[in-house]
Amino acid sequence: MEKVRKLLESKNIRPTYQRLKILKYLTESKEHPTVDRIYGVMKKDIPTISKTTVYNTLNSLVEAGVALPIIITGKEARFDSNVMPHHHFYCEKCGKILDLKVECEHFKKGSIHGHSIKELHGYYKGICKNCL
Ligand SMILES: [Zn+2]
Ligand SMILES: [Zn+2]
Repeated sequence: MEKVRKLLESKNIRPTYQRLKILKYLTESKEHPTVDRIYGVMKKDIPTISKTTVYNTLNSLVEAGVALPIIITGKEARFDSNVMPHHHFYCEKCGKILDLKVECEHFKKGSIHGHSIKELHGYYKGICKNCL
């Protein structure tokens, strides 16, 4: 919890209880959860929490740059606390999103065909090795 608090403070964002809890859950869960999943987990600890609060808290974490929404499934956003550039693998069978380390020459150089790169987002879809 202390680590998460320090991270929020370093981004000048007030470490409210909801922000701390949700960010801690995001850093511990490697499953890139949906809003519904986060809401379900949070409700166990904070029975009075609303889905709107979860949405707003996630938005403030994204704005502060400590979480990223991932749009892959085409149905819903998933959330990631790993804000370092990495790729994702989406399993169409079990719905898991896995982190992938992919070397990208263009990203390393910081430019592609003369365009300056600021962020990298990439993903693959398929069947994960557990489902195969
Ligand atoms: Zn799978
Ligand atoms: Zn990720």
